[in-house]
Amino acid sequence: MIKNIRLLRRGLQLLTFCWLSLFLWACGEKKVEIEFLTSKEAAQFLVHEDEYIQNMSLFDLNATFGASTMPSREQRIEHYENAIKDWPELYQKKINAAIAHLNEKIKDLGLDYPDKIPFILYKLGDSRGSAYTRMNAIIWPEDFMLMDDETFNRVIAHEFFHVYSRYHKAQNAKLYAPLHYQQTEVLTFPPALNELRITNPDAPVVNYAIELEYQGKKQFFMPILLAKRPYDATKERWLFRYLSNKFLAVDISNGVPSAVIKDGKPLLMLREETNFDDVVAPNTSYLLNPEEISAENFSLWVVDAHIPHKEPVDALIEVMKTLKR
Ligand SMILES: [Zn+2]
Repeated sequence: MIKNIRLLRRGLQLLTFCWLSLFLWACGEKKVEIEFLTSKEAAQFLVHEDEYIQNMSLFDLNATFGASTMPSREQRIEHYENAIKDWPELYQKKINAAIAHLNEKIKDLGLDYPDKIPFILYKLGDSRGSAYTRMNAIIWPEDFMLMDDETFNRVIAHEFFHVYSRYHKAQNAKLYAPLHYQQTEVLTFPPALNELRITNPDAPVVNYAIELEYQGKKQFFMPILLAKRPYDATKERWLFRYLSNKFLAVDISNGVPSAVIKDGKPLLMLREETNFDDVVAPNTSYLLNPEEISAENFSLWVVDAHIPHKEPVDALIEVMKTLKR
């Protein structure tokens, strides 16, 4: 009898456990899970020919591989193995703490994102000063390990957004709608700008435009990144020192954008020459690409930072709750 009661109790416990698991699963209780790649694993991952590799410009090839044409697969693996290091335990702890913070903040949103996010660590000085993403992975510079906790958590959240957004690539137009950007076909760069084009690994193709006012007229613009001069590692390694953040004026016909040419040159504009700030209400002065503005808005929200323009942030979070693959 006692044995039967024990069995019964065990059965009930098991049943409760199963129901609880099912309940949590049905409620979409999901946590961001990460894995720390070794240098060898990372090299195999990064050599993959994703949209970024396919869109690398002459400037990107120079800055990344010190080459003017795409190196062979073997050369790229060798490059990555040299530039990437295994994760020291101390660094893993700091990343884990930032992910725990992110998980706590997003736990009630029911977000849909990749099951695992690989983390790759660039050696000190080898990242050219930026964190970025490739496919579902976050590439993290060792230089960033000394950041204060709030900035660190914020950059992690920013990069997580890029992974999240790429996971929902087919629905990016919904994410960017609060910023008034609309989807077009992919921009073909005017040949005059091609040499100094910089590809953002987090938004490797330019296929969103925004209608702004410029000199009292309405005009479509697309955000692009141009280098101020060709990459020269002997003079300057830091990527952000080369970067100029521009709007390219475009005409859009049947969804296809083409650069506006004025006096024989593509018409380029700074944000200040348009009513961008009134239309988009950005919360930071970072890049003009809707992917980057959204990543900034999301990351400010994650760390409870001061948000001057709450509306686009609230709208973004509401859209994020609805995106399912
Ligand atoms: Zn970014």
